[in-house]
Amino acid sequence: MKKISLLLLSIITLQISLQASTVYYVAVDGNDNNSGTKNLPFATIQKAQSVVQPGDTVYIRGGVYHLTEAQITKQERIYACVTYLDKSGTAGKYINYFNYPNETPVFDYATVKPANLRVAAFYVTGSYIHLKGFEVVGVQVTIKTHTQSECFENHGSNNIYEQLKMHDGMAIGFYLLEGSDNFILNCDAYNNWDYFSENGKGGNTDGFGCHPREGSRNNVFKGCRAWFNSDDGFDLINAFEATTFDHCWAFYNGFNKDFVSEGDGNGFKSGGYGLQKLGNQIPNPTPRNTIQFCLAVRNKANGFYSNHHTGGSNWFNNSAYKNATNYNMLNRLRDTIQDVPGFNHIMYNNLGYKGGRETQNIDAAKNTLANNYFDLNLNASDTDFISLDEKLLTTPRNADGSLPDISFMRLKPNSQFIDKGKDIGFVFKGTAPDLGAFETNK
Ligand code: CA
Ligand code: CA
Repeated sequence: MKKISLLLLSIITLQISLQASTVYYVAVDGNDNNSGTKNLPFATIQKAQSVVQPGDTVYIRGGVYHLTEAQITKQERIYACVTYLDKSGTAGKYINYFNYPNETPVFDYATVKPANLRVAAFYVTGSYIHLKGFEVVGVQVTIKTHTQSECFENHGSNNIYEQLKMHDGMAIGFYLLEGSDNFILNCDAYNNWDYFSENGKGGNTDGFGCHPREGSRNNVFKGCRAWFNSDDGFDLINAFEATTFDHCWAFYNGFNKDFVSEGDGNGFKSGGYGLQKLGNQIPNPTPRNTIQFCLAVRNKANGFYSNHHTGGSNWFNNSAYKNATNYNMLNRLRDTIQDVPGFNHIMYNNLGYKGGRETQNIDAAKNTLANNYFDLNLNASDTDFISLDEKLLTTPRNADGSLPDISFMRLKPNSQFIDKGKDIGFVFKGTAPDLGAFETNK
């Protein structure tokens, strides 16, 4: 009996040692010939990937990493993939690439300009990978015709992109073409403008783009912000499965940071398939995207936009302010390129103020509408809000990465929009939900 116990114990010990996770380090002054310890760190994430196993963590020390063209790992399609993450974790054992606590790593791609190739700073085909706490800046566009580059391009599933900042480059911040159950949490994409390709208007440079192929489901964006991206804040064109935007903010998109007009300029663009796809080239049924508790401010075109989608989406508890149009539910028919007023949208508890237009293409007979400011016929005024100071929108995030608790568009306790919403299953205070993205603690 004792022998068996000892044997069991040694087997368990062996299993624990096999399962023990390892921590590796990457630092600006590291070297890929090092062993990757804290004192002998690697220089690149690419090297770290070659040694990690599921459950391991790679800590990235603070400082600016100047990427070079020699570090392009692989060409995939027309993309020069600089860091290529193709090693997967498992459901219980993610591979983690984290900033070292209280340090800020910045990856700068300003000199990575491969001729005739798009740049993907991070090209992720692996799954169960968690990326957290670093910045990607200066990603370039080198192609003069229709093109784009990306800070992150995702193809894997069950990945977590958290507290990443993609800014001051020419590339899309985050871009998804395939993969399911990815969670994009508390990321910021800003000051991204492609002034080189086509007409120099940056018409492809969105903050966040999610364009999943058929079968790529359940991708969720939460707590993300997009501002001063030359095209759209959040874009779901050519999405063959439904996506959720939850508690995200889009402002000043369609402008460069001097407020010069650039690309499309929608805050949240929910779907559409361009004008080329017709009939069975469009998924049937049309995916129903969900945009909830989101905020759209002073985007050049529409705050919340259905973008010629061929079906309805869910729009719950959003707040819009000073967009050219706050809510535009424009749809089109599957078999023609003919635009029609929105149909099959479900809109509850939405709020808007000071739009160039408040709404377009919202026919009450063709949609399910309840408790929106426009169907309650309530007109907001400055006195409904604690603050309308737009400068608050770029307030630094909370220590845990969550959105800052600002007073912008929060309702005063005596606002007409308090408790005017419909209970649609979310937590609320008072006797009923309030209109808009922020529930007042009355
Ligand atoms: Ca776009
Ligand atoms: Ca309430």
